[in-house]
Amino acid sequence: MSRKAKIINPIRMSKIFQPMTTSGSLNSGDGAKIVSKSHKLMINYGIIKPLSTGMYALLPLGMRILNKLINLVDKEMANIGAQKILLPALTSAMLWKKTNRYDANKAELFTLTDRYKKEYILSPTFEEAICDLISSIGQLSAKSLPLKLYQISSKWRDEMKPRLGFLRSREFIMKDLYTFDTSLDNGRHTYDLVCESYSNIFKQIGVEYKKSIGDVGTIGGLMSHEYHYVSDIGEDIILQCSSCHFSINRTISKTMSCPKCKNELHQHIAAEVGHTFLLDTKYSQPLKAMYTEQNKSKPIVMGCFGLGLSRIITLVIEILSTNDEIRWPVKLAPYTICVITPKAGSKEENTSAYVEQLFEIFYERDIDAILDDRTHETIGKRLVFARASGYPYIIVIGKPAIQSIPLFELHDVNNSTYRELSLDQISDYFNNIKFKN
Ligand SMILES: [Zn+2]
Repeated sequence: MSRKAKIINPIRMSKIFQPMTTSGSLNSGDGAKIVSKSHKLMINYGIIKPLSTGMYALLPLGMRILNKLINLVDKEMANIGAQKILLPALTSAMLWKKTNRYDANKAELFTLTDRYKKEYILSPTFEEAICDLISSIGQLSAKSLPLKLYQISSKWRDEMKPRLGFLRSREFIMKDLYTFDTSLDNGRHTYDLVCESYSNIFKQIGVEYKKSIGDVGTIGGLMSHEYHYVSDIGEDIILQCSSCHFSINRTISKTMSCPKCKNELHQHIAAEVGHTFLLDTKYSQPLKAMYTEQNKSKPIVMGCFGLGLSRIITLVIEILSTNDEIRWPVKLAPYTICVITPKAGSKEENTSAYVEQLFEIFYERDIDAILDDRTHETIGKRLVFARASGYPYIIVIGKPAIQSIPLFELHDVNNSTYRELSLDQISDYFNNIKFKN
């Protein structure tokens, strides 16, 4: 597509499928009460729509946010040499029986039976499925390792009490990475590499996160870390030392003092958004995911690494937003800039040439923008809406646009600043901001 074709056809707010709900006696669509502001804001502003208990449709703005997060994750995964795949959503229950996870997790598994009476699980995680993939190929050669495979897909868990939107939903979107190494030493090296890439992802999102020693829980393995956002709606408590930053999940800590420096550990209510495990051969052994070295066959040392993408989206809203207004990290906002045109019938109505010039500035810098073309509404009303929707930058084509040197209002919503700039100054302004991952 030519650039010119894009310029004359900006995304128009009047055409966006964004069913709004006004707050008040809001319920989540299945009778459950809405108790978190992220849940309320995501439904009110047409980002998600509850369709069944703990199951949500991601609407167009929600998909844009998810895709931005996916792009960011994909780039970091590529940097560590991880390759993207997609496994079937259904895993044979037989595989889960081999690892003894079927009975242990049965209450939370969605299961179904096909026409041949074969039982499947709608997978909450894919250790069994990935081992089955590897073992079905035959034995890998030591030379082909390390191998890192990941997918981004829907996962399912039949939660007893779905709540807080995507924080405890029955269907959720997760990135899961599985790594394969020849030895525990190599496995540890890969583990550290992935943890580093997780730090990069969280730094780019820009909301403060914590990495803690985690519980290996039902996944198992030798070592585990959890990535958390501190938030009152979280269900974990982490203990952190304020002097050396040692951090651990309270469920596995034996003491309230730091094992490294003996200072007191402080409690934080937090929500898990990522979890890493060094699995060793816990899954590769029973499922026969093997490699050969000097004619000897050995089980592969594995790691698995989850990142809850729908949870991250929910929590950044919860942490950054006010009760009535969404705030996004610039890198995840559905559109970076919202341009508001003059009201129909106003003196400055005929400023459409500026729309084209503004969008040309954005396209040249590869910044995504949306045009609020609902000119039957006043500028003031649309400005309030754009702020509440959390577009990080708003540009208003108002009265100063018909002065001899046309000026435009530029609002930096995240920093609550406002200025009047010429087109050239707007161009400079966006030259100096880094948006790209
Ligand atoms: Zn300490």
